[in-house]
Amino acid sequence: MDSWNYEVFWKEMLNQIKNSISKEEFSMWFNNISYCSSEENTLVLSVPSNFFMDQIKQRYLPLIKETIGELSGDKINISFTVVKKDIKEESSKQKISQTEEIKKHPDLREDYSFKNFVVGENNSFALNAALAISNNPGKSYNPFLIYGGVGLGKTHLLQAIGHAVYENSASKKKIVFLTAESFTNEFVTSLLKKNPHTFKNKYRSVDLLLIDDIHFFQNTDRVQEELFHTFNALYGAKKQMVFTCDRPVSELKNITDRMKNRFEMGLKVELLVPDFETRLAILKNKVASLNITIADDIFELIAKNITSNVRDMESALTKLVAYAELVNKKITKDIAQKQLIDIFTTTKQGNISIDIIQKKVAEYFNLSHIDLRGKKRTKAIVFPRQIGMYIARELTEYSTTEIGSDFGGKDHATVIYAIQKIEGSLKSDPSMEAVINNIIRTIKEHSSK
Ligand code: ADP
Ligand code: MG
Repeated sequence: MDSWNYEVFWKEMLNQIKNSISKEEFSMWFNNISYCSSEENTLVLSVPSNFFMDQIKQRYLPLIKETIGELSGDKINISFTVVKKDIKEESSKQKISQTEEIKKHPDLREDYSFKNFVVGENNSFALNAALAISNNPGKSYNPFLIYGGVGLGKTHLLQAIGHAVYENSASKKKIVFLTAESFTNEFVTSLLKKNPHTFKNKYRSVDLLLIDDIHFFQNTDRVQEELFHTFNALYGAKKQMVFTCDRPVSELKNITDRMKNRFEMGLKVELLVPDFETRLAILKNKVASLNITIADDIFELIAKNITSNVRDMESALTKLVAYAELVNKKITKDIAQKQLIDIFTTTKQGNISIDIIQKKVAEYFNLSHIDLRGKKRTKAIVFPRQIGMYIARELTEYSTTEIGSDFGGKDHATVIYAIQKIEGSLKSDPSMEAVINNIIRTIKEHSSK
């Protein structure tokens, strides 16, 4: 008997939810769920992946249940079924909808949108903050600062905000995206050409200012002065500013205190390294837009071997796709392993942890692990500790900030100093290289088991 059909409730629920969450969120999540079937007291929805299903359950299941409950006056269960979309069909659909869609902002990369940003534990706070800001620019958190290591999605998220605000304002808002480096160059040029007013007017009249990589402002006194006034003008006019930085602002050197205060006075969020599941989801998401099938074990191979930088994972994927196209072969795990061995060994990652590095360095110098990672400053410990930091930088993707915190809570400048010192010794003392290579070998042996 087909006495229950909950599709009408589902449709009505979509109408209601559309009004209660942002357009971006709605299209990211609800455009990818479809009605599947109705069973007794159960509404079955289809979703594109397990990952997506988990996310939906976490974020929206209570809202969905409540809304359906209110509409139907009944307690209806919600269940999900994963239906993988046909990739070809999907990508042609995307193309059509993109050409029909609103104009894209010329300075922003089309693929750096919220839609293409995969959420995981490492970035959900940052993503939600970015969504909130896109809905209410200038109103809630101003400025918004995203910081974190290389290749973790800072630029992507920054541009996604740009896309969303641009679309929400029907292309009317003046949105400027640029790197701190371009800002600096443009300012210097405006001084040389003796038209600093044009520069001032341009940046003080925008609705949304997105500046990428503000660590570049270190040691640029006059630019900081100009930025300070730009900041105040925009802040006063309640115009949203978003910045990204590769380290916490407190660790920037040669940035004036007043500028540091301003960078930090709104909301700051750190992007962390994605976990294995998220790395897999990011890879699968990238491939979904290409017209190619890659087996699950190959995704896993990449996600296992490249652990701390999304950009490196993408390079691995690009290399495989290029190989498959050129030799016109299906990629097997064997081929992938052979093709990617270089990337896996040179992208300074793998299973090597700082902990193992410390243990092996301590062993080599007959020190205790605790002393090596502790705060003692005797000469017998300081030098091996510097070697440890140097090796950590060579073999892992950890930032100098992260390395410092694992070596007795040192700041990143101490780590940089240690690295320079060891690089110096390597040049002047031929036995150093042998010592370091020896330690590195034991670390690699341990980590490849
Ligand atoms: P950063 O600016 O932090 O160095 P990017 O924003 O340039 O890093 O990101 C590097 C690459 O990784 C980009 O191609 C970006 O699209 C991708 N990436 C990073 N995080 C994610 C994510 N959560 N979902 C999808 N792609 C991501
Ligand atoms: Mg970047």
